[in-house]
Amino acid sequence: MSAAPVPAPAPPPVDPVAAGEMAREAAAWCALHGLVVGDRADPRSATVPGVGLVHAPFSLLPAHLPESIWRQACELAPIFNELVDRVSRDRKFLQDSLSKTRQVDDFTSRLLEIHKKMMEINKDENIRLGLYRSDYMLDLETNSLLQIELNTISTSFPGLGSLVSDLHRTLINQYGHLLSLEPKRVPGNAASSKFAEALARAWAEFNVDSAVVMMIVQPEERNMYDQYWLTKYLRESHGITTIRKTLSQVEAEGQVLPDGTLLVDGKKVAVVYYRAGYTPNDYPSETEWSARLLIEQSCAVKCPSISYHLVGTKKIQQELAKPDVLERFLENKEEIAKLRKCFAGLWSLDNEEIVKTAIEKPELFVLKPQREGGGNNIYGLDLRETLTRLQKEGGDALAAYILMQRIFPKASLAYLVRGGICHEGLVISELGVYGAYLRNKDKVVINEQSGYLMRTKVSSSDEGGVAAGFAVLDSLYLTDK
Ligand code: ADP
Ligand code: MG
Repeated sequence: MSAAPVPAPAPPPVDPVAAGEMAREAAAWCALHGLVVGDRADPRSATVPGVGLVHAPFSLLPAHLPESIWRQACELAPIFNELVDRVSRDRKFLQDSLSKTRQVDDFTSRLLEIHKKMMEINKDENIRLGLYRSDYMLDLETNSLLQIELNTISTSFPGLGSLVSDLHRTLINQYGHLLSLEPKRVPGNAASSKFAEALARAWAEFNVDSAVVMMIVQPEERNMYDQYWLTKYLRESHGITTIRKTLSQVEAEGQVLPDGTLLVDGKKVAVVYYRAGYTPNDYPSETEWSARLLIEQSCAVKCPSISYHLVGTKKIQQELAKPDVLERFLENKEEIAKLRKCFAGLWSLDNEEIVKTAIEKPELFVLKPQREGGGNNIYGLDLRETLTRLQKEGGDALAAYILMQRIFPKASLAYLVRGGICHEGLVISELGVYGAYLRNKDKVVINEQSGYLMRTKVSSSDEGGVAAGFAVLDSLYLTDK
């Protein structure tokens, strides 16, 4: 494990003048095809649909990835889907694994409290829906695909991400005289229609014709068009109505009837799809927690349930990577081996040896708190300082974090387009593979890979979120090697 030497990257396939022209065409395409987000510069863009739109940040051309790696990532999706379901059924494993974390992390503690309440009333979820994204980087030194994390709540960009492969194919066709790229090497991406289909199938299993899908949203959301893509498919392909509610609206307008039916604003809810609720910021008061509990107590299908949500925590990721833990949940040895192959080094901080190594060589590690949504990880000198301080403080404070091996993907030169401006930069990419899982008691209705998200960022940036402003949306260009 050492920082890989950086080979000289190849220049991008077009010169800056041609890139500028392509970027203008591409930005117009985004506006015409709904590859848009709310513009930070317009305060109303996060609350009023159709106001203050700007093209989503994108990479001008798709990122190269060996086809064999792509296949490997796709194969992992149904195995991870099943794993989440199995782990979610072991309530004691979840409670025990997170017991130290809860003492120092209030957010995890609140989630566990709801989980515990559901244990006490022996609440069983018959219809279980998971919409996931497993994120990976290709480690340059070992040429291995390593998992960054598995997102089990509020996985973003199925809507916009699907459009980027169309954009890239269009550009490759249009500028064929400048680029020696083949459009068929950009894999199609049906993430938005696949996710909508999974929501629709869950709705069908729930089997109440008048019921709606309820999307839980943040009061302000500049990424609302990503979400509206799913709403559109639900309506146009499946005839299902989606309502959008914040957690505080659910608290004000919602009730659970004696038979378990969740009624919000007078409408029966079949499926609750969370696009909020993954960060402490989404729970500014007791009102939001009370809405989360209300939903959990109802018989509506929750995407995700509190158990599925907890399986996606970084602490559980680290626990699952310990020796012999996967074997508790899966029988198939080949599948276990495939999962283990993509696990990077993960450690809890009660391992003194690894804490010492991380203080000595912080550049080889990432320190992660139990947070989602980008911008929370600690790197480099900050990592050293934080670990040294926490060690001095003693007590359980270290339990709020996990340590992870830092992955070093290959950097290449590319054009990134943001706010109508095209920049050339040295970039690295992160591949996300979507997965959908739907189960009704013993019947697995859906277990599949459901498209992908490529995100690209300048290699000097530690964080990766698109919404958080670090990365741009990208697609894939499959290569032989
Ligand atoms: P979040 O829940 O905030 O999305 P992640 O674990 O996905 O947390 O980390 C955020 C970003 O930090 C990732 O998208 C990736 O760009 C970078 N990152 C995370 N873990 C690693 C790692 N082990 N090596 C290199 N980069 C990482
Ligand atoms: Mg992430």
